[in-house]
Amino acid sequence: MKKIAILGSTGSIGQQALNVIRAHNARFRVVGLAGGKNLKLLEKQIKEFQPEMFYSSVKPDFAYKGEFLSMEEIASHPEIDLVIIATSGKAGLSPTLAALKVGKTVALANKEVLVMAGELITREASFHQTQILPVDSEHSAIWQCLRGEESNPRRVFLTASGGPFYHYSQPQLSKVTVEQALHHPTWKMGKKVTIDSATLVNKGLEAIEAHWLFALPLDSIEILIHPQSIVHSIVEFVDGSIKAQLSFPDMRLPIQYALCYPERLPSPELPHLELSKIQCLNFEPADQNRFPCLKLAMGAGRQGGTYPAVLCAADEVAVELFLNRRISFIDIAKIVQETLEQHKSIAQPSLEEILAADAWAREYARRSLPCHCEEHKRQSTLSIGK
Ligand code: MG
Repeated sequence: MKKIAILGSTGSIGQQALNVIRAHNARFRVVGLAGGKNLKLLEKQIKEFQPEMFYSSVKPDFAYKGEFLSMEEIASHPEIDLVIIATSGKAGLSPTLAALKVGKTVALANKEVLVMAGELITREASFHQTQILPVDSEHSAIWQCLRGEESNPRRVFLTASGGPFYHYSQPQLSKVTVEQALHHPTWKMGKKVTIDSATLVNKGLEAIEAHWLFALPLDSIEILIHPQSIVHSIVEFVDGSIKAQLSFPDMRLPIQYALCYPERLPSPELPHLELSKIQCLNFEPADQNRFPCLKLAMGAGRQGGTYPAVLCAADEVAVELFLNRRISFIDIAKIVQETLEQHKSIAQPSLEEILAADAWAREYARRSLPCHCEEHKRQSTLSIGK
């Protein structure tokens, strides 16, 4: 029995990981659960899975016999074989480091961890000879394509559905509502990731993540728009041979692959692909000019240092402002760009320097709000009109 801890169990990936565990309950035992503010759901999960330890970011309003520990303590606990980092943003950073330092296998779903601190995290993982298993569908696809190969790939193609607005014009993009942006055409995900998919910043973050996970030069990673979300990523080798991983778009598959690795288990609950029914699979290069967030992310990845951490922080603030209807969809890119431009990066940053850059970027992005705030714009137009 593999003993599992899930950090971020009440989020979208956390809940789907529990679905996988429920379907294979003879193989896995949940020994730790950590949730955020959704205490009702956390309590329900705890009652069902009876973990030895738990955590919540707010004081729990229920009684439970298990031990209340920090996420770092859970991630590095001797009882645990594998920890799923399914938190979002920077919350996963220090628990991941804690787990790697004591040799725990980490199944990583929190992409910001490698984007913000890829150098630090991969150094720790190789020093302690621990494995980071990807959970993101694209990285799981690349991993599956690379398994058994001895030579490095020539190119890697990260596929992107393009989100709901890929063929929108600039004026159309400026009028996008929160509801439209939250309606992803192919994937069911949390709010932050859904908006990041609509701006395509997500693919930039994934390219940086792939760069660290598989030691690939960023310039060998290309983004392909593939609206059907059937091919999850593609690897090309030096001889021109191409391998791709295809499946129905459902996060339970990459989660299960990481949990069962190096085995494969049946997944009777998941729909299987009927290849004969798929009429076509389309691919086109991603237009970075129409989706500036993607361009900014690739640029931050190339520049390295603390730029990727600043990118993540500014994007998180901007997405939150958009979800709270304070800024428009196209303002997300403006806030991220302005914050990156004002940042003075540090090369080979320590954890403290990364966290300081993160805090600076959050503060800067929030302060830049008045220039982008819809209400402010309306008021200034009114006063100009007077
Ligand atoms: Mg993905």
